[in-house]
Amino acid sequence: MHMLLTALGLVVAITAHADEDNDVLYQVSTIDALLSGVYDSVATVGSVTEHGDFGLGTFTALDGELILLDRIVYRAAVDGTVNVMPASTGTPFMAVTRFEPDQVLGVPTAQDYTAFQRWLEDKLPSHNIFYAVQVDGVFSGITYRSVPSQGKPYAPLGEVIAREQAVFEQKDIDGTLIGFWCPDFSEGVNVPGFHLHFLSADRRHGGHVLDFNVLQATVGIDETNGWDIKLPMVADYLDADLSSDRSAELHAVEQGKGAAAAESDRGDHGAVMDGECPGHPKRQIRMD
Ligand SMILES: [Zn+2]
Repeated sequence: MHMLLTALGLVVAITAHADEDNDVLYQVSTIDALLSGVYDSVATVGSVTEHGDFGLGTFTALDGELILLDRIVYRAAVDGTVNVMPASTGTPFMAVTRFEPDQVLGVPTAQDYTAFQRWLEDKLPSHNIFYAVQVDGVFSGITYRSVPSQGKPYAPLGEVIAREQAVFEQKDIDGTLIGFWCPDFSEGVNVPGFHLHFLSADRRHGGHVLDFNVLQATVGIDETNGWDIKLPMVADYLDADLSSDRSAELHAVEQGKGAAAAESDRGDHGAVMDGECPGHPKRQIRMD
């Protein structure tokens, strides 16, 4: 009996350990480093996917939106194309986990992104851990963006979004939203609240989600209580000034408004952009 209990105990311990390992958000670099223009490669996507099969990020020089789904790394490029990328491709920021949903919920129909966020935040068991979030379904409409490759010296992300993001709209499309909900205390390191990327079911369309309307969908949430951050030992990161509060900039960037909107949101022109006025955001709306 004692032997049996010991054996059972061992099995339980091994299982618990395995779960713990899988419930880790692993990321390279920080969101504030990306906001400040640290776009050099800090890791290969192949080295990051050793830590997860599901996640998001971007590529070296900010060359498109990164989507990791079922171990495959996709690039949603600024021209609207989606391609599978090799393991040797570089990334300046990427966040991944091993996706094993703890709950799957039906999403109320006709929700837009704002209503969805409110609805799902209410359902999260706690606001003090991380969640991987996967939404599968049909969208009556979805708006997402991508960004073009940048040359040096790199401009801050808010400026790039304001000047150069391409915004895409699709109607009645099947697809998956891939991303995370992070707690408020992750500010500066990851994105507090929801950060979702889109990949269509036919793998031909994708990008950083700005808005959507759900026709029919389920959402899987994976409770994630580990957080493993790899800070890059590259000059681009090590020499960056990461001392300022970039939360207003992040808010604007996540919503696709960019630097000009961040300034007007704050009502203090110059604080975000160091005195340089980037003008009004230009948006290219594309539909296909
Ligand atoms: Zn994104």
